[in-house]
Amino acid sequence: MVVTYHMTIDLAWALRRPTAYLKDIITHETGHSLSGWDVRRRLKEAQARGYIVLPVCDHHDARGYCRGHTDLPSDCRRDTTPV
Ligand SMILES: [Zn+2]
Repeated sequence: MVVTYHMTIDLAWALRRPTAYLKDIITHETGHSLSGWDVRRRLKEAQARGYIVLPVCDHHDARGYCRGHTDLPSDCRRDTTPV
């Protein structure tokens, strides 16, 4: 069985970055990138909810970490190229 996990970012680490650094690291559901200030606001909102990392899927634990998917989520691409 293959389990796929979403990658995420540590909220405390990200919030210590300059706002300009945060620009474009989150893509809105509509496909456009968020400004640095919008990203910072979303990170702070997630931290206020008690998350340690930014939840990026619907299958995460109380800290925000992905619990894994046995069926590949539709937003993922599996790279099978050997390293
Ligand atoms: Zn996930």
